[in-house]
Amino acid sequence: MTDTLAPVRDGKIIDGKAFAADLRAKVGRLAAQFEAQARRKAGLAVVLVGEDPASQVYVRAKGKSTLEAGMASFEHRLPADTDEADLLALVEALNVDPAVDGILVQLPLPRHLDEQKVIATISPDKDVDGFHVTNAGRLAVGQPGFVPCTPLGCLMLLKDRLGSLSGLEAVVIGRSNIVGKPMAQLLLAESCTVTIAHSRTRDLPDVVRRADIVVAAVGRPEMVKADWVKPGATVIDVGINRVPGREPGKTRLVGDVDYAAVSQVASAITPVPGGVGPMTIAVLLRNTLVAAYANAALDLASDAI
Ligand code: NAD
Repeated sequence: MTDTLAPVRDGKIIDGKAFAADLRAKVGRLAAQFEAQARRKAGLAVVLVGEDPASQVYVRAKGKSTLEAGMASFEHRLPADTDEADLLALVEALNVDPAVDGILVQLPLPRHLDEQKVIATISPDKDVDGFHVTNAGRLAVGQPGFVPCTPLGCLMLLKDRLGSLSGLEAVVIGRSNIVGKPMAQLLLAESCTVTIAHSRTRDLPDVVRRADIVVAAVGRPEMVKADWVKPGATVIDVGINRVPGREPGKTRLVGDVDYAAVSQVASAITPVPGGVGPMTIAVLLRNTLVAAYANAALDLASDAI
C-alpha cells in the first residue's frame, strides 16, 4: 500500500538533521567564544554502566559530537556489576570537578542500581539531561532550568516551522518523564491547549483528531494512522522502533507514525530517521554550553542559542 501513495512534498518534511547541524555549528562557535573567555573548554561527562549495545552507540555518538563542537568529553565506563555507592561517589566527584559543566548518566542502568537515586545525586546545575526533580519542577513553574533534550528539540522544530504556537491544540501521546510530560509542559508554556494521551486514553484516534500539533512518543511502530490526523496538522514523531526490513535478515527504523500515509494529510511532519533523532544530541550540546557559561559566571545572551 505504501508504494501507491504520492511522494511527500519536500516542503512538508521537517528536516531535523539540517536543523540539528545548524544548531551544532552555532554551539561550536559559542564554545570557541567560551574557551577564549573562560580559558578552558566547556566539558561534558558521560557515565555508562554496563555494556548495553544501544547505550554504547549513544555514548560513542555523544562523545564524538562533543569533541566536534570544540568541547571536552569525559567518558566514564563502569562494569555492569558496579556498586551503587561507587557510582554515586563518581557522580559526586563530577559535581565538584571544575572541568565538568554537564553530567549525563546514560539510562537505562542495570537493575540493581536505583535510577532515581542516581539522578537525584547529579547537581541540578550540571543536569544537562534535565531529569533531576529540581529541573522538572523549574519547568513546571516556569523558572529557567535544564529541559530534557528530546522534547526541547521537538519544540525548537515546531517553533521554527509554525512561529507562534499560542492557542493551538496540541496532543502529546505518551507521558514519560523524559519525553511526554516535559513536552506537554513546554507546549503549555507556549500557550497551547495541551492534552496528554497515554495507554489508558479512551478513543485515542478521536483525541488525536482535534490536534493542530501531534507529538507521538509511544514506542509503537507506525501506530498513528492517517485518519487520526486532522488535515493540515503538524506531526512530530519521537518514536524510534526497529522493525524487520524488506530484505530478509535486515532491520529498518520506523517512528510511531505511519509516515507514508500521515504525510498525505499533515501539513508538516518529521521523518524517522532524520527528524527528532538528530536533535537530541544537538540540544545536549546546547544545554552543556549553557551550563558552562553559568558555571563560569559568564553572560550568555538569552537569545544567543
Ligand atoms: P516510555 O515507554 O517511557 O513511554 C511510552 C508512553 O507511551 C507511556 O507513557 C505510555 O502511557 C504510552 N503508551 C504506550 N502504549 C500506548 C498506546 N497504545 N496508546 C497510547 N499511549 C501509549 O517511552 P519514552 O522513553 O517516552 O519513548 C517513547 C518513544 O520515543 C520510544 O520509541 C523511544 O525510543 C523514542 N525516543 C526517542 C528519542 C530521540 O532521541 N528521538 C529520545 C527518547 C525516546
